[in-house]
Amino acid sequence: MADRAAEIAANLAAVRERIAAACAAAGRGAEEVTLVAVTKFRPASDVLELLRLGQRVLGENRDQEASAKAKEVAEALVSDFADVASIPAPEWHFIGQLQTNKVKSVVSYADVVESVDRLSLVAALDKAAVRAQREIRAFVQVNLDPEAVRDGSGRGGAHPEEVLELADAVAGTDALRLAGLMAVAPLGSPPEPAFERLAALAGELRGAHPDAVSLSAGMSGDLEAAVAAGATHVRIGTALLGGRPRLR
Ligand SMILES: *Cc1c(COP(=O)(O)O)cnc(C)c1O
Repeated sequence: MADRAAEIAANLAAVRERIAAACAAAGRGAEEVTLVAVTKFRPASDVLELLRLGQRVLGENRDQEASAKAKEVAEALVSDFADVASIPAPEWHFIGQLQTNKVKSVVSYADVVESVDRLSLVAALDKAAVRAQREIRAFVQVNLDPEAVRDGSGRGGAHPEEVLELADAVAGTDALRLAGLMAVAPLGSPPEPAFERLAALAGELRGAHPDAVSLSAGMSGDLEAAVAAGATHVRIGTALLGGRPRLR
């Protein structure tokens, strides 16, 4: 466990260093970029290490795993730590494809849903959040893969032409607050052109919704390109917690 703690601490320092360097290169302040630590496939013990290190913003992409982990972490925070006051409460971001039958569960632990990609999901999330008396920050996820957009496949995300309509819908809800846009760079091609298209869309979105200034883009392999294109949130899993799932 001590080794794992040291490994996570070193990885976190290295990722924070990469973000700072990318911000410096782009003429931006490092405080403009929020690190979302993606903890999918990783045990709650890794989450607790991240929290101890002051890394409170966390991302998960599957409800079944995320809900169990969020519960385990919450329970550990009240029982395991002598000095709970010094451990920050986690802020959970849901970043995966979301089925409407999971929204009730997701709003029970998530503070942010980054993967809003269709009108039926906006309505379902709002209804569940109102019932749970929760306010949820929502990102509209846009699909940047032209192939996937054309044939309707791909890993989630709205067609770029649907983004403004979805954003208007989010902004018109009672319990969702429109944060901005989220995207994953297409696999197998350089990320820069995709992130440029994303930045242009983000500019259009801000024209219609001036408060929707967040832009979630960039993963372990392409965070520098994302920061150069104006990302305010980077979602990092592998570079923090390793490339392969660990067993407990
Ligand atoms: C897993 C995941 C990430 C993190 O990717 P890494 O390459 O491991 O840093 C980011 N965003 C989404 C949507 C993910 O599912």
